[in-house]
Amino acid sequence: MSETHLSLEQVEALARGCLMANGCDQANAEAVAATVTAAERDGAASHGLFRIPGYVAALKSGKVNGLAKPKAEDLAPATLRMDGDGGFAPLAHRLSRPLLAERARAQGLAALGIVNVHHFSALWVEVEALAADGLVAFACTCYTPSVAPAGSRQAFFGTNPIAFGWPRGDGQPPLVFDQATAAMARGEVMIAARDGRELPPGVGLGPDGRPTTDPKAVLEGVLLPFGGYKGSAIAMMVELLAAGLIGEGFSFEAARYDNKDGGPPRGGEFMLAIDPARLGDKEGWLDHAEGFFAGLTALDGVRLPGDRRYANRALTPSQGVQVPKTLHDKIVALSAL
Ligand code: NDP
Repeated sequence: MSETHLSLEQVEALARGCLMANGCDQANAEAVAATVTAAERDGAASHGLFRIPGYVAALKSGKVNGLAKPKAEDLAPATLRMDGDGGFAPLAHRLSRPLLAERARAQGLAALGIVNVHHFSALWVEVEALAADGLVAFACTCYTPSVAPAGSRQAFFGTNPIAFGWPRGDGQPPLVFDQATAAMARGEVMIAARDGRELPPGVGLGPDGRPTTDPKAVLEGVLLPFGGYKGSAIAMMVELLAAGLIGEGFSFEAARYDNKDGGPPRGGEFMLAIDPARLGDKEGWLDHAEGFFAGLTALDGVRLPGDRRYANRALTPSQGVQVPKTLHDKIVALSAL
């Protein structure tokens, strides 16, 4: 596959320029471009430039409001609601994150429901920022149905990612894990299909309802939850938190109203932030957890989630990133005014 080399500045400018050429104002374009650039920087290609054609499709069809002006509302001292005004999720995050952190510090913990947004990005961006700010963070979102609940062969849950962040000591980046509750994120399956790579067993079923390792067949069929009925229960919890609890659509409802333009459907996100100094071990929580991490990483074969991304992050500012040439050319063509 032929590739184009880009610096991170070029990635950001390409993403921002393309979004602005297709109807985003500067604030919306900058917020989305920042998440796209962070994904490329960390080697998370499935949520980097790869997503730009989908973002553009949703702007062109009029499904997403590129001029969104998200508005926050306090519902109680420790609960917030952010109405994303029909835009992409990153601007709603950018504006609500400091409010959530402030409420969590004041109350010990705070919850945020982000509604009326279109979420097309990786969740670690959101929890990592809170954890870097000293808070324990959790986030989850649901999506259009593509995962069969345990026992079924029919898509009903979204790929419903969950992300968790924990602050670290000594200037270390936060511990963050971020994973789809599907056996594999759909974007990863799409990339495997594009690159002609077989999937590991257990990722999904083909359109005939039979297990397959062919990514194209899984895209026409259905994904499976990770870990059988246990992952299925977690995917169900995400639906209840990110839709039922905050007053947004469940994945099956999102699909009903989506125009299937290839961009993200409307949905919601649930976030929780906890100030560790306000719960339990006020003075010792950080050192206590650092001891835990030391024991964990001393085990043979163990690495912490997030370490792969942080290792990429250390290299890309100087080395830049490689992007498939066809994708780069496509985004350049979409950017033409
Ligand atoms: P992965 O399976 O690639 O990784 C999941 C987590 O496990 C990561 O935190 C990863 O850390 C960690 N990990 C992987 N291998 C190991 C290992 N050997 N030891 C310890 N930890 C490990 O992610 P998914 O494919 O499930 O999800 C990819 C992305 O898709 C996520 O960012 C998710 O938010 C996003 N997504 C977004 C959706 C949306 O609606 N917006 C829908 C579904 C998914 P590391 O990164 O360091 O490898």
